[in-house]
Amino acid sequence: MAPELFDVARSAPSEWPVGVPIEELTGHSYWRGQPFRQFVLKVHSRCNLSCTYCYVYQLADQSWREQPAVMSRGTVDATAARVAEHARRHGLTAVQITLHGGEPLLAGAELLGYLVTAFRAAAPSTTEVAFGLQTNAVLLDDAMLELCLLHGVQIGVSIDGGAASHNSRRLRRNGRSSFEATDAGLARLASGRFRDIFAGLLCVVDIGSDPVEVYESLLAWRPPAVDFLLPHGNWRDRPPGRGPDEQHTPYADWLITLFERWYSAPEHETEIRLFAEIIVMLLGGQSQVESVGLTPSAVVVVETDGAIEQVDALKSAYHGAARTGLHVGRDDFDAALRHPGIVARQIGAAALSAHCADCSVRRVCGGGYYPHRYRPGTGFRDRSVYCPDLFALITHIGRRIRTELDDVRRRTG
Ligand code: SF4
Repeated sequence: MAPELFDVARSAPSEWPVGVPIEELTGHSYWRGQPFRQFVLKVHSRCNLSCTYCYVYQLADQSWREQPAVMSRGTVDATAARVAEHARRHGLTAVQITLHGGEPLLAGAELLGYLVTAFRAAAPSTTEVAFGLQTNAVLLDDAMLELCLLHGVQIGVSIDGGAASHNSRRLRRNGRSSFEATDAGLARLASGRFRDIFAGLLCVVDIGSDPVEVYESLLAWRPPAVDFLLPHGNWRDRPPGRGPDEQHTPYADWLITLFERWYSAPEHETEIRLFAEIIVMLLGGQSQVESVGLTPSAVVVVETDGAIEQVDALKSAYHGAARTGLHVGRDDFDAALRHPGIVARQIGAAALSAHCADCSVRRVCGGGYYPHRYRPGTGFRDRSVYCPDLFALITHIGRRIRTELDDVRRRTG
């Protein structure tokens, strides 16, 4: 049976924003939404690793079991046509295509090469199509790197520090170490001419590790940027160590130690996007990412079978939380812009809980990353489960920047 439009049968219909009319969410009878600019393609729905915190396989949603392993060429073509249609309709001069999984390299060089060519061929001549790929690097051999270099595909690698930190959570499916293979793939990417397509590293925070040790292990590859991500969790399934005692801020403590190491370095070693975005927001600027501030989400996901979904971190909330019931074979991306879950991520302060609306750091924090706000009963209209940590981190960085600016002012008279 084909899924109905905005089919949410397996979610909880009374939980915000599910079932809330767009007029009520936006305050307008006519809502167009902000066009999507980033399209995350699940080119392969399986993985060669079994990471303990993975939201695709280890958390509430198990919909990967229903997905074909690989995206077919037919689905690639249909998605390319939909992205081109969206770019044309909204006059987009640039779109970002992110190749994701599972592990995208399992899709193989042939399909990935076909995909890049198909998307660029379908796009209007006025739209630049940029490609990124997020991988565990285990299969990142010279042939794959040559292909990515040829097509200008920027590569991000997921790695959780040195061998001990990494292997504590990112093992192969048979329980063996993945570090040596990741290290070898990264060594190829980070050196010589392939360095031009090295986008950076992605590391999931483990409060049981030493933040300085993790950071300095990652610096060994001289990454242009490092994204430190909070493990996914919510008010029902709390992240590890994030208990109900709000005086206890283990994630802020970890991140503040890291911030001080990064910020106090005599020279700029790498970009840490979380800190850079918070600083920009504190100085009155606009954030480029949805996880900081109130920036509207412009990201949409296409699964291996062509289903159009919301960001897949929502899968950490409940089974089916990312579903829209839309499909690239039937529906355009504008239909997804009217999905209540996507609208809720584009309306900024109007989506905040009463608690956040009264908070002194709400402009910078933005209520926390949307999937982390989920609480059974109230849905996504809640503060982040990381609220005490976010407040402590933002106020620490704010104090640090203010002190520094005061010093500069004093020195320069
Ligand atoms: S710190 Fe907490 S209350 Fe303040 S905006 Fe962030 S999540 Fe909301």
